[in-house]
Amino acid sequence: VFGHVAQAPEDPILGVTVAYNKDPSPVKVNLGVGAYRTEEGKPLVLNVVRRAEQLLLNDPNRIKEYLPITGLAEFNKLSAKLIFGQDSPAIQENRVTTVQCLSGTGSLRVGAEFLAKHYHKKSCFQHTIYIPLPTWGNHPKVFTIAGLTVKTYRYYDPATRGLNFQGLLEDLSAAPSGAIVLLHACAHNPTGVDPTLDQWEHIRQLMRSKGLLPFFDSAYQGFASGSLDADAQPVRLFVADGGELLAAQSYAKNMGLYGERVGALSIVCKTRDVAVRVESQLKLVIRPMYSNPPIHGASIVATILRDREMYGGWTIELKAMADRIISMRTQLHEALLARGTPGDWSHIIKQIGMFTFTGLNTDQVAFMTKEYHIYMTSDGRISMAGLSSRTVPHLADAIHAAVTG
Ligand code: PMP
Repeated sequence: VFGHVAQAPEDPILGVTVAYNKDPSPVKVNLGVGAYRTEEGKPLVLNVVRRAEQLLLNDPNRIKEYLPITGLAEFNKLSAKLIFGQDSPAIQENRVTTVQCLSGTGSLRVGAEFLAKHYHKKSCFQHTIYIPLPTWGNHPKVFTIAGLTVKTYRYYDPATRGLNFQGLLEDLSAAPSGAIVLLHACAHNPTGVDPTLDQWEHIRQLMRSKGLLPFFDSAYQGFASGSLDADAQPVRLFVADGGELLAAQSYAKNMGLYGERVGALSIVCKTRDVAVRVESQLKLVIRPMYSNPPIHGASIVATILRDREMYGGWTIELKAMADRIISMRTQLHEALLARGTPGDWSHIIKQIGMFTFTGLNTDQVAFMTKEYHIYMTSDGRISMAGLSSRTVPHLADAIHAAVTG
């Protein structure tokens, strides 16, 4: 009965790793995967995570019962405080509902399903979500499959390899009132280009004046600047004006809990009463999807966030990851300058977070993979976290050859 099923294409991002794994070359480098690697190229389990797991293991009261549909209550409270701030008025006024979801992707999906069902009272445009061009490849799929109409707004300017702020403002100005707008809270993927705080304030004013609903994707809090608070500023700017928004959080990158699938969706509402009703509907979205979320990752996160000393330890390890990535930017930039590689490469040190959008085209990427065994997505995005001092010269040689060849 399944004989007619066609072979589906490999996921464009995960497919890079599949190709990398097949390559026997000893000099191969995987710059496709969006996961942190140490200077030795190894995945990293944070010390604070190991300590939290040890505490959980030794806790005689620990049980393996189902969590509620909305997840671990303490995890939800602490996650809201992490993104909105310890003394966020919205939290104090109990206008926020937070539900534990399956990492960032699951949080986006639950938010999208909720919007598709409940955000359509006034106009048909409330089923339209504007996503930046470009954006993480999974965004359009998550929103389309939930039943939303996906449109794009201009974001990246290939000429400056920076933000197309004018284009962004024009496109959001032209968007119909009531539309949803997806915003990367920080460390935009794939471009590494973020608005400044002044630009965020412009965006906020424009969106609020037009009644556009913000949906923040926060997959890299702490990874952009090394500071959890600084990276959450854009979100907090929008919460401070008293308006509504959605925020999807992931602990994959900032706690290294990739495979635990732990994240949260928060919806900031106008009143406590609305937040209670919204949460009741989120339960109806979640129950038939996966019933309730897994307990282990959320317990690790709650153990770390609730304890002042462990929280402090986490921020130090997080800063070390962010700093290593920043140092890779400097080293790669210097290596290209040393080789006299034609072109302006300053965007490598200006861009933020895990990725650099190099500006290399599909042919140049294919050349680098074939001749230098360097694996990356065909749009020229490289994961800085996949680099090390040892591999920077090899990458710089490859880029030099691709550009001059
Ligand atoms: N949003 C963005 C922008 C991302 O880059 C990612 C991870 N690559 C995610 C969401 C979701 O990640 P996860 O589901 O692993 O938390």
